[in-house]
Formats: sequence, structure tokens, C-alpha cells
Amino acid sequence: MPHDVIVEWPVHCPYCDAPFTLLLDTSAGSHTTWEDCAICCQPIQVSVTTTLDGELETVELGSDDDVL
Ligand SMILES: [Zn+2]
Repeated sequence: MPHDVIVEWPVHCPYCDAPFTLLLDTSAGSHTTWEDCAICCQPIQVSVTTTLDGELETVELGSDDDVL
């Protein structure tokens, strides 16, 4: 039975600090995606890093303001 590739990852919104849960697809490997906060609707940059085994390694959140 394959292990779950969707990982629930609790985070706090970098804009409004609301707690919510990200659903991360580890089958995609290391990638960056954007999620809209359910509370304040701001776009949150989510940088996902996985190990070579496909295990979730790190999750970093960024806001629009952090880009460049
Ligand atoms: Zn928010």
C-alpha cells in the first residue's frame, strides 16, 4: 500500500496570523505553489522541499512582500 502523498501541514498565515492547514502533495517533489488564505484571501507563497525518498522535509511560507 503506497504511503500518503498528501500531507496535512498546520501553518499560520503570514498576513493575518490565522491558523489553517495546508494540504501538500509530496508526489510533486520540491516545488513552490501559491495558496490563498481562507481568512484574509491574500496569496501565500508555499515552498515545499522533499527528500529523495519523497518525504516532506521543509515547508516555508512567504508573502507577496518577500518576493525579490
Ligand atoms: Zn490570512
